[in-house]
Amino acid sequence: MSLVAGVIRRLDETVVNRIAAGEVIQRPANAIKEMIENCLDAKSTSIQVVVKEGGLKLIQIQDNGTGIRKEDLEIVCERFTTSKLQSFEDLAHISTYGFRGEALASISHVAHVTITTKTADGKCAYRAHYSDGKLKAPPKPCAGNQGTQITVEDLFYNISTRRKALKNPSEEYGKILEVVGRYAVHNSGIGFSVKKQGETVADVRTLPNATTVDNIRSIFGNAVSRELIEVECEDKTLAFKMNGYISNANYSVKKCIFLLFINHRLVESASLRKAIETVYAAYLPKSTHPFLYLSLEISPQNVDVNVHPTKHEVHFLHEDSILERLQQHIESRLLGSNASRTYFTQTLLPGLPGPSGEAVKSTASVTSSSTAGSGDRVYAHQMVRTDCREQKLDAFLQPVSKALSSQPQAVVPEHRTDASSSGTRQQDEEMLELPAPAAVAAKSQALEDDATMRAADLAEKRGPSSSPENPRKRPREDSDVEMVEDASRKEMTAACTPRRRIINLTSVLSLQEEINERGHETLREMLHNHSFVGCVNPQWALAQHQTKLYLLNTTRLSEELFYQILVYDFANFGVLRLSEGNLVGLPLLIDNYVPPLEGLPIFILRLATEVNWDEEKECFESLSKECAMFYSIRKQYVSAESTLSGQQSEVPGSTANPWKWTVEHVIYKAFRSHLLPPKHFTEDGNILQLANLPDLYKVFERC
Ligand code: ADP
Ligand code: MG
Repeated sequence: MSLVAGVIRRLDETVVNRIAAGEVIQRPANAIKEMIENCLDAKSTSIQVVVKEGGLKLIQIQDNGTGIRKEDLEIVCERFTTSKLQSFEDLAHISTYGFRGEALASISHVAHVTITTKTADGKCAYRAHYSDGKLKAPPKPCAGNQGTQITVEDLFYNISTRRKALKNPSEEYGKILEVVGRYAVHNSGIGFSVKKQGETVADVRTLPNATTVDNIRSIFGNAVSRELIEVECEDKTLAFKMNGYISNANYSVKKCIFLLFINHRLVESASLRKAIETVYAAYLPKSTHPFLYLSLEISPQNVDVNVHPTKHEVHFLHEDSILERLQQHIESRLLGSNASRTYFTQTLLPGLPGPSGEAVKSTASVTSSSTAGSGDRVYAHQMVRTDCREQKLDAFLQPVSKALSSQPQAVVPEHRTDASSSGTRQQDEEMLELPAPAAVAAKSQALEDDATMRAADLAEKRGPSSSPENPRKRPREDSDVEMVEDASRKEMTAACTPRRRIINLTSVLSLQEEINERGHETLREMLHNHSFVGCVNPQWALAQHQTKLYLLNTTRLSEELFYQILVYDFANFGVLRLSEGNLVGLPLLIDNYVPPLEGLPIFILRLATEVNWDEEKECFESLSKECAMFYSIRKQYVSAESTLSGQQSEVPGSTANPWKWTVEHVIYKAFRSHLLPPKHFTEDGNILQLANLPDLYKVFERC
């Protein structure tokens, strides 16, 4: 092997140019991108591309821009000839695509180039042929429209290695469609078309008057164009603007489609792609991706425009901060667009219009249509659990043994029509034997009356025609009838069966009127027909209505419940008699419920400090409010041992969490018939919609 040093020779200039050109223009799509940018720089509104054999045989681009002056045709294909940049300083605020006069020169070193062009003030068009950057003959006058047509033939005719590497014309054609399509999306207002030579139908076609979304639709299809979210954000300190369209969480594809333009130049940024895909990862099924079209404008000083034409990957100043801002914006837009996720921020109830608003489709109509087998098919995502005996939340949370032991309890039908069923009677009787709570020994002595409850039960008995009525407007006479009917109750209360007192006090009537006025009919209907799901804790519980799951503030709702009972059944309560101390009794507001007596001392104290004893209406109002607060389910008075209403061990399954039993079977039962929820519950978060089945289906379909 010879160790003689090689002789260094200067390469022939055409070889140098060819090598350099081959680096700039690597495939037909590169050449087309460069030429499209020239058309855009020349202010064209129509750019038509025709190719043959994937651009390897022929590329022809026709525009209607400014054209090239005849005098410039001589040097237009020489290296470093440009009409766009004069001094190095101009680089800092360049607004055109081209600036270095390299593209046409490079193309002419690897292909046969013909330019036909006409300027606005030129008398006719001129045609010129180029080879290796040089004009081959003086431009010839010819007929032609305003603008420029550039023809590139036999690409890489003089670089056999490159020609061999690009054997697949259809693959090259695909790349061309991709590039032109992307520029078409980014340049709404300009009509683009790409077709194969000899074909009449264009494979990419956009119209000059189409919108960006129109263009996305015509190039990327209907499916994605329906699921687009517009994005737009700006940060003055980071000196950038961004706008574009991204797909929402309902749309995903196997491969990420990312159209990124930085300062209107089609580029790539792996870091930006990664940053955005991280945001989407939480929303899309595993290994699927979004569609993204983003146009970023960064202060020219902050982005390196001086990249090599083939270096699509760009970097810019403050990249991390800008990426973070973009991530935040995209995340917020995704959240906002995904109804099934709005519960993170939601305080309003979307499915609950005002009392006059359109009613929610009732469960009854859904189920009946399914049994009738009518044309309205009921899909799984519309199906609603209607059997209250089906598993509730506790079944998933309690140890198996306890869950089993609580079964008989869960069987208590929620729409109990028979008020004197043995279970109820047993509990009624237990009311008479209150265990004495430690703090204030209290024992229930007698149960005088429960007109309210009877009335409601009777209303339920009468069936659906009477039950959906406003609970606050139920007929008063019912109570007496019911009392006679219920033998066991009659026995218990025989000693003092009072007739219902009719209240005509203006103060009380106006308080009743106020309750009616703030009432929300749709919420009432929801509470009336809800299925109890379970207690989250003493303050919060979950309930289902039709296809929606709600989180309800038991404390606030029960407080409102007791207030309304106090105002509506004013002077018609039963008595919870207390055996010790000076306090003889408390109003019996609903069956089976004794307020947590741990709250009694504070209640008494507040009666002195918080109640306005001087004005009649204010007195009744503030007294009822204090009383309602004392009766409400409050977490500070609910402990594991707390009984709330004294069912304790006698009630099967109630041993684990007696308060839970009370919340479900006493409080929420009373909500059905006795509570007219005020409108503000929809806005203050006391009733929150957590999920809606059809939306959840969308989420699960993605998994
Ligand atoms: P650059 O775009 O960097 O200036 P090019 O080699 O791409 O360099 O183009 C050289 C010059 O040719 C441009 O500066 C422009 O004056 C002219 N040119 C090229 N294509 C067109 C066109 N379609 N319409 C008008 N002028 C064009
Ligand atoms: Mg250019």
